[in-house]
Amino acid sequence: MHDVLVIGGGNAALCAALMAREAGASVLLLEASPREWRGGNSQHTRNLRCMHDEPQDVLVDAYPEEEFWQDLLKVTGGNTDEQLARLVIRASSTCRPWMRRHGVRFQPSLAGTLHLSRTNAFFMGGGKALVNAYYRSAENLGVELRYDSPVDRLELRDGRFVAAYANGRRIEARACVLASGGFESNRDWLREAWGQNERGEWPADNFLIRGTRFNQGVLSST
Ligand SMILES: Cc1cc2nc3c(=O)[nH]c(=O)nc-3n(C[C@H](O)[C@H](O)[C@H](O)COP(=O)(O)OP(=O)(O)OC[C@H]3O[C@@H](n4cnc5c(N)ncnc54)[C@H](O)[C@@H]3O)c2cc1C
Repeated sequence: MHDVLVIGGGNAALCAALMAREAGASVLLLEASPREWRGGNSQHTRNLRCMHDEPQDVLVDAYPEEEFWQDLLKVTGGNTDEQLARLVIRASSTCRPWMRRHGVRFQPSLAGTLHLSRTNAFFMGGGKALVNAYYRSAENLGVELRYDSPVDRLELRDGRFVAAYANGRRIEARACVLASGGFESNRDWLREAWGQNERGEWPADNFLIRGTRFNQGVLSST
């Protein structure tokens, strides 16, 4: 039995798997997609927003915690857990050396386009290179990776994780990290979430889904 079962194969899952493995745990990661489509929506990303109080390699000037926090509030309309948000904001100023150790490379933002050189660190090679670096590092560290392994059910006892089911198999572990994304490619749920507009139309019917097709929200209601 593994110490940690990680469900999902994007940025959150890979970071959890790497950190657990670095701490000495045995880790099994289950990714719903085939190997060539691995990496979830994380493979489509381009950059990481980073707090910093002074210039840092690819980042110019400063982007202090308070400004990041206020920017976040503008996006979420205040629907934000301040404690968690500030934890993430602060970690964004120190996480890049860890990312580099796992093979992620950064580049300055392109001049003349959006002015992101102060706030955002760009991944060299984009999100696909980011997740490929993490997968490579996970393999080197001995994380067990299984593709084509969509988890369709979790078994809980007294609110605690016991096992997950993938391809009809029951997989037990001492702990589980659920990092299987949201329901960004589930058309029916998007329709329900966005509702009808004043003209009686369903805006979600016209959405172009640019991300992974594997985020169906299967485990969201577990
Ligand atoms: C086109 C695009 C561009 C973006 N650009 C940026 C950007 O530049 N910067 C930024 O910060 N954010 C960006 N985002 C948002 C960012 O992609 C997400 O916030 C982030 O990737 C979420 O990471 P995650 O690990 O939670 O989910 P994901 O990366 O989506 O990973 C979810 C994983 O779970 C797997 N999975 C799903 N269901 C199951 C199941 N039942 N069993 C097993 N595995 C399952 C999927 O296959 C996938 O590997 C962008 C999003 C898109 C779509």
